[in-house]
Amino acid sequence: MENIIKVKNVEIGKGFVVMAGPCAIESLAQLEKTAELIKKNTQILRGGAYKPRTKPSSFQGLKEEGLKLLKQVGDRLNLPTITEILDPREVALVASFVDIFQVGTRNMANYALLKEIGKSGKPVMLKRGMSATINEWLSAAEYIFAEGNQQVILCERGIRTFMTETRFTLDLAGAMLAKQKSGLPVIIDPSHATGIPALIPPMVKAAKAAGFDGIMVEVHYNPSQAKCDAEQALTPDQFNEMFQ
Ligand code: PEP
Ligand code: MN
Repeated sequence: MENIIKVKNVEIGKGFVVMAGPCAIESLAQLEKTAELIKKNTQILRGGAYKPRTKPSSFQGLKEEGLKLLKQVGDRLNLPTITEILDPREVALVASFVDIFQVGTRNMANYALLKEIGKSGKPVMLKRGMSATINEWLSAAEYIFAEGNQQVILCERGIRTFMTETRFTLDLAGAMLAKQKSGLPVIIDPSHATGIPALIPPMVKAAKAAGFDGIMVEVHYNPSQAKCDAEQALTPDQFNEMFQ
């Protein structure tokens, strides 16, 4: 049985799905401008409202206001939306504004969060913990299944290795093993995995050639002004060129 996750007019697990948008939602103008410029090559709009930053002094996201902006822009452009959730107490709130939950690498093993998302029954993209084995990743997905939610998408976003020249190490072989073992759709995130804009288009090609189910890419209309992950954001032009 194929695992196809249907979100509005988009089917994940069938064809190659493109999720794109800014790392963090910063303002209506920022999200709207970016989304309009990438819409022709994007099926799902991403944007962070709750940001899990390494330092507490860094921009933490617009929170509920960000969720509202994501819904507003997604509705207007007719794009389903995905956003990261950090706290099990916010499941109902986030669910009321977006179509897909994203569990980030730092929360892959936050079992209280996974259980609440499991109970919600809403589609979720579970990113791989940056030091998780494939079995640990698939076991985390079982926490969501165990609550009755089968709508799980996996996302490989790079793991920590001895490599320092790229932000993380994109483990395509591990991600394919996860896909083969679980039968779940697997999305590749070359933005966080590499941290280097010039590496993103070739890794997108690799993901497509290997038979993955799609990509998640960070795009900002003006990367130098981005409040989060500025170094790795593609401009809308760079993003659109990838699809030529
Ligand atoms: C993100 O998608 O912006 C993000 C924080 O991702 P990750 O959890 O993979 O670091
Ligand atoms: Mn990011």
